[in-house]
This record gives sequence, C-alpha cells and structure tokens, in this order.
Amino acid sequence: MTHPADGPVVVLLDHHTVDGAPRLRPPVLELLTLARGLARHTGAPVHAVALEPGLAAAAADEVGRYGVTVVHDVTVGDADRHLTPVAAEALAAVASRAGASAVLATSTFENKEAAARLGVLTGAGVVSDATGVTREDGEVVVSKTVFAGTWTTRCAITTPLAVVLVKANAVPAEPVDAPTEPRTEGHAVTVSAGARRATLTGRTERAATGRPELAEAQAVVAGGRGTNGDFSAVEELADVLGAAVGATRVATDEGWIGHEAQIGQTGVTISPQLYIGAGISGAVHHRGGMQASGTIVAVNSDPESPIFEIADFGVVGDLFDVLPQAAAEIRRLRG
Ligand SMILES: Cc1cc2nc3c(=O)[nH]c(=O)nc-3n(C[C@H](O)[C@H](O)[C@H](O)COP(=O)(O)OP(=O)(O)OC[C@H]3O[C@@H](n4cnc5c(N)ncnc54)[C@H](O)[C@@H]3O)c2cc1C
Repeated sequence: MTHPADGPVVVLLDHHTVDGAPRLRPPVLELLTLARGLARHTGAPVHAVALEPGLAAAAADEVGRYGVTVVHDVTVGDADRHLTPVAAEALAAVASRAGASAVLATSTFENKEAAARLGVLTGAGVVSDATGVTREDGEVVVSKTVFAGTWTTRCAITTPLAVVLVKANAVPAEPVDAPTEPRTEGHAVTVSAGARRATLTGRTERAATGRPELAEAQAVVAGGRGTNGDFSAVEELADVLGAAVGATRVATDEGWIGHEAQIGQTGVTISPQLYIGAGISGAVHHRGGMQASGTIVAVNSDPESPIFEIADFGVVGDLFDVLPQAAAEIRRLRG
C-alpha cells in the first residue's frame, strides 16, 4: 500500500485505566485537534488506532467529538501489545492498510521507541517532541524546541509517510461543531518472531495520586532544596490549581519525593502552560526539562538566583510564606 498525501492522518489512542475501564489520556484530544488541522490541507480523513482491548468501543463517542471517521481496533494474538516492537508492527500494519499519510502519537518514552521502530519498518521520517505540525508545499512540517527550549526549529518530513510525536499541551483540545459517528475496523495483526523475542514478565500500574500526570499536566508546581523536605506548601498550591507536583534532582535524591517527580535533563521533560518553581535555583540540568513551559513563575528567597533569569514572574521570598498566601488568594478568588 502506498501513502498518498491525502491518505488518512492516523492518531494512536493512548489510554489509562479509570475504575477498571480504559480511558483516553487528555493529550490524545490535543493530537486529534492537530491531526484535523494537518488533514485539512489535503482533505484527508482523521483515523484513530486502538491497541488496547475494549478501547475502540470505549472511546468511540469521544473521538467522534473530535472528528474521527474510522477507529482501527487492533489485536495482536498472544503477542504482548505493551512491548514496543509489537506496537510498532501493529501501527505499521494499520498505516499500510489505511494508506496513511501521517501517524501522530503523544511524545512518551514508549511511543518514541515504538515510533523509531515504525520508522525502520516503513521508511517513514520520524520527528519527536513536536510542538506543532502542519503541511506546507505538500510536505509535513514539524515545529519543535531544542537545546532546553532556547531554539525553535522546523523540520520538513520528505517521506510519503510521516511519523510525528507531539508533546502534551502543544495546542488546546478543540472538539468539532458536528460530531462524527466513527466506523470501527478490526485488524488481526500477525506479529513477527523477532518482535516476540522479549517477554514482559510483569507490569504494575502506578497508584493514582489524584493529580495530573507530570508530563502532560497543564500546570506544574515544583519544589527544590528550598523545601528542605517539606512539600506540603508545594502540594497545597498544586491541588488548588489542579496541577501536578514536580521536583529537582536534589529533592528526589534526598528521598523527599519519588524519582518520577524529577524534572530535568535526567528526569521528565515538561511543557505546561504554567510552571511554578519554589526553592529551586534554576540549574542548567533542571532548566533543560522545563524551559519550554508557557509561563514560568519562580519563588526564591535569593534575589540573585539564576531561575529569575528565565522567569516571567518572580517572587523574592520564603516559599513557606508565599505559596500558602497564593493558595489562599486563589481559593478566595474562586469563591
Ligand atoms: C549529570 C547531571 C544531571 C542532572 N540532572 C538533573 C535533573 O534532571 N533535574 C534537576 O533538577 N537537577 C539535575 N541535576 C542537578 C542540578 O545540577 C542541580 O544540582 C539541581 O537542579 C539543584 O536543585 P535545587 O534547585 O533544588 O537546589 P539548589 O541549587 O541548592 O537551590 C535551592 C534554592 O532554594 C532557595 N531557597 C532556599 N530556601 C528557600 C526558601 N525557604 N524559600 C524560597 N527559596 C529558598 C535557594 O536560594 C536556592 O536558590 C543534575 C546534575 C548532574 C551533574
């Protein structure tokens, strides 16, 4: 199957489990919004692909509100769909059968690995950590920030099939005016022996904290050494804002908070609309993971702290005074 420019734009449906049922992760709705914009240039339809059993049916109404016309419901026999070689072969099969022009997925660690394998299997050009995607002069053009958010680049994908991994919060999710009723197409994919060489021996889903996932949250409140191990003020402000809680490596290395909360070069890269850093100096290794945030607010008792160089809004003060006041004021304004 070829990949014509007006072939479907296919979006991978990432999910999490809520009360035992698969649910779409919020960044998928942003992807569907971007996919519609990309497809509009060639009049292509937007398709979705579900690798999780039950997800296609569970998500049909929601993806219909975002203009999806076909949901590809993929089964992989007794192969493990959580393994990236298996996911890559499943995506390659769908992209080929649908004659897709582009495959979009959220820029997670797992999806990046699956996308790289998909690129090898199909010869597609792959760009990860995108913040925007459009079509210009027939080519898929991807925007992304590099060098810790200090440069913005644009990359044209010149292959017939484009694979783009998009960061959370790249665009606001916008439903269509007239929802569609997507058709479900089943695909039984036979996975190669090579993709089955690794075996997954166990999987434990992290217990839900009730807060958004750090990598996809629209707002993040992060604490550093300045908390001295007491994250209560950081957590209180995060909960008032509906934000995720993040941290510096110092805080995670000290065991004040789990390593999954670490933002930075050797932690999670985030690009929320709002980042609030409290008791954080703004070391280059931390900046590398948060400098692409929309609005950066810094709370630090040292007016010479380097984080103020990149902050849009800075408060010189003790975080244990400033954060509770901010939380109280937000509560008051919300009535
Ligand atoms: C290879 C390598 C990789 C690394 N990867 C990462 C990474 O991924 N992420 C990461 O974060 N770091 C990483 N680091 C560590 C990084 O270099 C810094 O050491 C770390 O980010 C500093 O953390 P901090 O800002 O919490 O602490 P500090 O630099 O010690 O800053 C603490 C700040 O808190 C302020 N403060 C103190 N008390 C208060 C108070 N009561 N109220 C308000 N402000 C207060 C101080 O003025 C100070 O500015 C890495 C280091 C290396 C070598």
